[in-house]
Amino acid sequence: MEQTLKQAISLGRAAALTGKVATYIPELASADPSHVGIAAVTPQGTLHAEGESATPFSLQSISKVITLIMALMEAGEEAVFARVGMEPTGDAFNSIVRLETLPDHKPLNPFINAGAIAITDMVPGNSFEDRLARVLHFVRRLADNEAISINKKVAHSEWATGHRNRALAYFMKDAGVLKRGVEETLKLYFNQCAISMTCEDLARIGTRLAYPDGLIPRPVLRAALACMTTCGLYNGSGEFAVRVGMAGKSGVGGGILAITPGRAAVATFGPALDARGNSAAGLAMLGHLSDSLGLSQFDSYALNPALTR
Ligand code: GLU
Repeated sequence: MEQTLKQAISLGRAAALTGKVATYIPELASADPSHVGIAAVTPQGTLHAEGESATPFSLQSISKVITLIMALMEAGEEAVFARVGMEPTGDAFNSIVRLETLPDHKPLNPFINAGAIAITDMVPGNSFEDRLARVLHFVRRLADNEAISINKKVAHSEWATGHRNRALAYFMKDAGVLKRGVEETLKLYFNQCAISMTCEDLARIGTRLAYPDGLIPRPVLRAALACMTTCGLYNGSGEFAVRVGMAGKSGVGGGILAITPGRAAVATFGPALDARGNSAAGLAMLGHLSDSLGLSQFDSYALNPALTR
């Protein structure tokens, strides 16, 4: 495992040179594009890590998995999928184009920005502070780390410049998709995206998904992993399924969480992104891990050691 992770890091460092850090959220532009880290938890529960695995980054869209799980646990599958669809889109993560043309203006899935904002709208609570405390409490519990906090500079930076997300949210409010105050839900969304942690923390969250311990109920986990597989890397989800084959979720902060049920929980970090907003280093590292360790969910051969070709 150590050898495979070391090889992954060197492939990741080469791939990072081909990407660019996100700049549309000004605070993200200060990330070091050469940073590359990985952490993986085996079925035995051992955490292996290499590279900048202890460098914190903001979760960005990876937080959408956490709010989806919360909404499924609190409101149930029927209520969640009455708000958002469960279909992949070939559009970019922040695309606005289909919201108007779809008959009920329902975002296509919970991981594009529109869908994620609709899910965040479902986080219960009496105030912004109360709602954010619930999200943070759940994240800390999943990671088993009370020190996880929000990068306030990143949250403020997105709050100040998130005009497109505001446009999506106000459109959805007009269409009746959002039920609560738009600005409060947006502030909550920007703060959840700014939750900061390391690859090691994220891999520990991944263990809850790869090796369930009862904290996340079975139907909730099944739905979340299915959405990750079909929609987790936006318009790169199909390619990720072919080349990596793990249930994944990326974020523009440079993280990717990747799960093979029962076999692997992996978190990668590399803030240099490809044109679709996915970590260039992360994609290279996960491709290598999947090939070397047989981690694709679609690799029937990997499940039967007697088969070799
Ligand atoms: N906070 C980011 C946004 O809404 C999340 C996008 C992402 O990570 O893909 O633009």
